[in-house]
Amino acid sequence: MWNLDYSRQKDIERLLEEKGFAMSKKFGQNFLLSSSAREKIVSLMGDIRGKAIFEIGPGFGSITSLMLKEGAFVRAFEIDHGFADILRNDAFKDEPGFSLVEGDALKTLFSEQCIPDLIAGNLPYNVGSVIIASIIENNFLPGRMVFTLQKEVCQRIAAKEKSGDYSSFSVLCQLDYEPRIAFSIPRSAFYPSPNVDSAVIVMERRKEKLIEDGERDAFFKLLRALFAQRRKTVRNNLKALHDNGTIGIILSKAGISEKERAENLSLQDILRLLRVSSDL
Ligand code: SAM
Repeated sequence: MWNLDYSRQKDIERLLEEKGFAMSKKFGQNFLLSSSAREKIVSLMGDIRGKAIFEIGPGFGSITSLMLKEGAFVRAFEIDHGFADILRNDAFKDEPGFSLVEGDALKTLFSEQCIPDLIAGNLPYNVGSVIIASIIENNFLPGRMVFTLQKEVCQRIAAKEKSGDYSSFSVLCQLDYEPRIAFSIPRSAFYPSPNVDSAVIVMERRKEKLIEDGERDAFFKLLRALFAQRRKTVRNNLKALHDNGTIGIILSKAGISEKERAENLSLQDILRLLRVSSDL
C-alpha cells in the first residue's frame, strides 16, 4: 500500500534517498506540499468521475492520487525516469485508472490517439508556456485545462490588450479558451521553494469556435508577424507578409489605424485582419 505523505518534505526527501534519486533543476521539479492547494486544484477540474485526464509532470503523483480518488482516468506524462519508476512500480501499481507515458511531454503528447476531456499539471517552470503554446498550435484542445504555473505566466495568459502583460502568447491562449486565474500559491508551499510565486489558471474552451481549422496556420503566421517587434507599428510588422500597397488596403478594410501597435489590438481585431487579408 502506497502511503507517502505528499505534504511532508521529510517524507519526500526520504523517498528520494531510499531510491537513490536526486531532484533535477533542469526539469523544474518543485513539489506542491500544500494539501489544501492540491485539493483546490482538483476541485477546479469539476466533476471528473469517469473523465479522461492527461496530467503533465505528475512527479510522484500527489495530484494524480487525488484525481484517481475522484474516479478519473489519468494518463500521466513524466520525463524523469526515476519518478516514472516510482509511479509505475510503487505509487499506482494496482491502480487500473492510471497509465504512464515516459518521456518529454512535448514529444509524446501529440502522438496520442484521442484528445482527453481535460489536461492538467503543475507545469515545470522552464517549459510551461511552451507546452501550452504547443497544445494550442497542435489543435489538441480538451474542454478544460487547469495548470499551476509561475504567477507571471498566468498573468500573461489572461492579459487583455493595452495592458503590460499582453503579448502574442495571450492572444494564442485566448483563441480557443477563456482563461481565468483561480488562486495564487506562495513559493513557500513548494519543495524546494522556487524564486517566484505561482498561480493556478483555468482555461475553459470557448462554447463557440472563433476560428475554422483551415484558418489556424494563417492566424499563427499573422500573430507572429504582428508581435515580431513590439516597438514597431502593425503597418511595419506586416511588411513581413505583404507589400506596402496591400498593407494599406488591409488596414483600412479592417478599420485599424496605420500607427497602431499590436499590443493595442484585441483578439477580434486580429481575426478581422486575418479575414480581410484572406479575402484579398
Ligand atoms: N506534480 C508534482 C507536484 O505538483 O508536486 C510535480 C510538479 S513539478 C513542478 C514538474 C514535474 O514535471 C516534474 O515531475 C518533472 O520531472 C516533470 N517534467 C519536467 N519537464 C517535463 C517534460 N518536458 N515532460 C514531462 N514531464 C516533465
